[in-house]
Amino acid sequence: MKKQFAVIGLGRFGGSICRELNELGMEVLAIDIHEEKVNEYASVATHAAVADTTDENTLRSLGIRNFDHVIVAIGDNIQASILTTLMLGEVGVPHITVKAQNDYHEKVLNKIGAHKVVHPERDMGIRIAHNIVSKNVLDYLELSDEYSIVELIAGRRVDGHSLIDLDIRAQYGCNIMAVKREEEIDVSPKADESLQSGDILIVIGADRDITRMEQELFNDDSD
Ligand code: ADP
Repeated sequence: MKKQFAVIGLGRFGGSICRELNELGMEVLAIDIHEEKVNEYASVATHAAVADTTDENTLRSLGIRNFDHVIVAIGDNIQASILTTLMLGEVGVPHITVKAQNDYHEKVLNKIGAHKVVHPERDMGIRIAHNIVSKNVLDYLELSDEYSIVELIAGRRVDGHSLIDLDIRAQYGCNIMAVKREEEIDVSPKADESLQSGDILIVIGADRDITRMEQELFNDDSD
C-alpha cells in the first residue's frame, strides 16, 4: 500500500513539500487553518482540509493517526506548532517531521516527540554562505559539527591529474565519493583516471580538511 503523508501548514515550506510529494506520486493530505491556502492546494494534494490542528478532536476526526508521516510546517505560530506536534505524538503517528523556527523551538520539539526537526532557513543559509565564500563549492551538506559532504567543481589545478596523483586521501584525509561529468555520475571513481576541469567531485571529510583541500587544489583565483 502507498505511504500516506499529511502536511500541516501550507506556507512556502509546507506548500513546496506538498507539491514535491505529489510530483513523486505520493498520497498527500494538505491541511491549513486558512481556507484560501487549502483552496490553493486542493488541486495539488490528494485531499485537502481546512482545520485548526491544535484542536485534538479536529485532528482525530481527520484520522491523522492512520498517516505514516506527518510534516508540521506551521511557521510563526510556535505555540500551534508545539501543540500540534504533541498531539501527533500522543495519537501515535509513526513519523513526525517538524519545521523549527529557532534553536529553543527545536529543543522543545525534540523533547515532546518530534522524530525529525528541520531548520530549512538556517540550513539553506549555511549552504549559500559556503557557496558565496568559495565559488568552487556548489553544494554543502552538514553531517555533524565537524564533518560534511560537499560538491566541488574541478578547476585548472586538478585538470589532467588522477586521484592517485593528487593523493587526496593521504594529503587531506578526505574521500572522493563520486565524480559527475556532464550527465554521467561515477560512484566509484577509479584512482588512476584523469580528472577534467568542470568535473564535479562529491567529497566527504572533516570541514577543516575539506577547506584546506579546496584552497590548495580547487581555488584557481590565486593563480
Ligand atoms: P512559511 O515560512 O513556510 O511560509 P508560514 O508561517 O507563512 O510559513 O506558514 C505557515 C502556515 O501554517 C500558514 O499557512 C498558516 O495558516 C498555517 N497554520 C498556522 N497555524 C495553524 C494551525 N493551528 N492549524 C493549521 N494550520 C496552521
